[in-house]
Amino acid sequence: MTTKAIESIISPPAPHMVGDGFRVHNFIPGHHRMSMERMSPFIMMDYNSRINFPPKETPRGVGVHPHRGFETVTIAYKGKVAHHDSAGNSGIISEGDVQWMTAAYGVLHKEYHEQEFSRQGGEFQMVQLWVNLPAKDKLSTPKYQAIENSKMGRFELGEGHGFVEVIAGTYQTVKGPASTFTPVNMMNAKLTSGGKAEFSFPASYNTLALVVEGQALINGEKVGTDQIALFKNEGETFTIEANQDAIVLVLSGEPIKEPIAAYGPFVMNTREELIQAFEDMNKGKFGVLED
Ligand code: MN
Repeated sequence: MTTKAIESIISPPAPHMVGDGFRVHNFIPGHHRMSMERMSPFIMMDYNSRINFPPKETPRGVGVHPHRGFETVTIAYKGKVAHHDSAGNSGIISEGDVQWMTAAYGVLHKEYHEQEFSRQGGEFQMVQLWVNLPAKDKLSTPKYQAIENSKMGRFELGEGHGFVEVIAGTYQTVKGPASTFTPVNMMNAKLTSGGKAEFSFPASYNTLALVVEGQALINGEKVGTDQIALFKNEGETFTIEANQDAIVLVLSGEPIKEPIAAYGPFVMNTREELIQAFEDMNKGKFGVLED
């Protein structure tokens, strides 16, 4: 085992609004070091860094829109989001929870701040990821995994070190509950001051760590709040240490080495498949969802 060295430490790009409910920094593919191909299977990453939304009676959010060809994963750190989709699934993602929606063949969905959260206002912080699907699964049946915090794997790092919360994949002996189509590791290192965790993933896996709260020393380098440590595709192991309470999202996945054709909410392998996606959506094949 050799060290997985940091390729670069990346500060969040300027934010933009998605609908009126999400103020996001688009790291993937917005940052020039994090193209879809470089970061596969993580082909989109919007980070809503922590902000305070004032109270509003009518919830902010994003109206009905389609997806095909991948999965959307929402990780809630602060605040609450209500989700509805045309496959008939709905739910509320609360602090600490994750929603894993497999759009695959196609869904329409909408995402708004949860009604009561909106009325009260407050701190809001989320990560939304798009996880690509291999060509053979892009047109599979949509599905939905509501992953409550209490269902996540939990590896205790020892007294006074905190723990690693596993959403998908494996940390040491602990597995995460999410089912994935290709190998994906997704976990939160929730470290207390003085805590330290060691990670090991194959050299070929695309790997990053986002500091969601506090700051961390990653392979001894200081990474501040809202920054990403992007790792090289060499070596396996790295360490995260905290000299204050910190939360670090760690993502590591096997690249899907297939052509990417992306347009708006569709990510396929060819241009022809993108055209087909529009045709199928316009024919109503993604189902119906009221705004
Ligand atoms: Mn969406």
